[in-house]
Amino acid sequence: MIIAPECAACARPLERPSDGPVCDSCWAAIRRFTPPLCECCGDPLPSGPDLLTSASREAPRVCEHCRRHHRIIDRARAIGPYDDRLRDIIHAFKYDKRRTLGGRLARLLAESGRDALEGADAVVPVPLHWTRRHDRGFNQAALLAAGLGLPLCHALRRTRRTRSQVELPAGKRQLNVDGAFALAWRYRWPWLRVMRPSRMPRLDGVTVVLVDDVSTTGATLDACARVLKAAGVREVRALTAARVVSRPR
Ligand SMILES: [Zn+2]
Ligand SMILES: [Zn+2]
Repeated sequence: MIIAPECAACARPLERPSDGPVCDSCWAAIRRFTPPLCECCGDPLPSGPDLLTSASREAPRVCEHCRRHHRIIDRARAIGPYDDRLRDIIHAFKYDKRRTLGGRLARLLAESGRDALEGADAVVPVPLHWTRRHDRGFNQAALLAAGLGLPLCHALRRTRRTRSQVELPAGKRQLNVDGAFALAWRYRWPWLRVMRPSRMPRLDGVTVVLVDDVSTTGATLDACARVLKAAGVREVRALTAARVVSRPR
């Protein structure tokens, strides 16, 4: 008996399994962020008469939270909210190890993140702890980053194994990632750069784009950005496949 392969997101039989493990209607059902977006964090802004009044028309469109807090990430973008089909596809990519999904997710991410990629020098994937990368066999953030058309720079390493931010209550997320990232060893030992300069883009004075699969409160991205800025990076931006929007702050 031949069993038709099922879509990794909706579990219906795939019409064209050779096109990949997710069906076309699931890809088409992804809810994407559409303007107006906060220029800083990328959250959807309320569109309505209040945005069109007097001063706000010329002012940079920045959400309430970004107006009140200093942000270390200058610009963040995502394909869409972390729910429905996008979440199913990311789960299939990450936990079911359907790594071929990375290419198409990266294409969508490049579209949604055009203004974050513009003028940037390199993409830096958020690292997994080596034990987790070993278990999974790949780092999903690195696969996404590799499809964005900029030099890939493994500048960071995770110093300890942390719990998934999605599992944790908001109040615990900051603590979970505090001090969990450091510069990759090759950047700690400058003589390695002399040996393999092409594999080590410089960090001082450049603009980099951090890449991850999901951002929840942004605590992971902020922790990575702090390490990069301390190493001399001028501007840090961020792209994540999905973003949790209605997060408590
Ligand atoms: Zn499907
Ligand atoms: Zn914002």
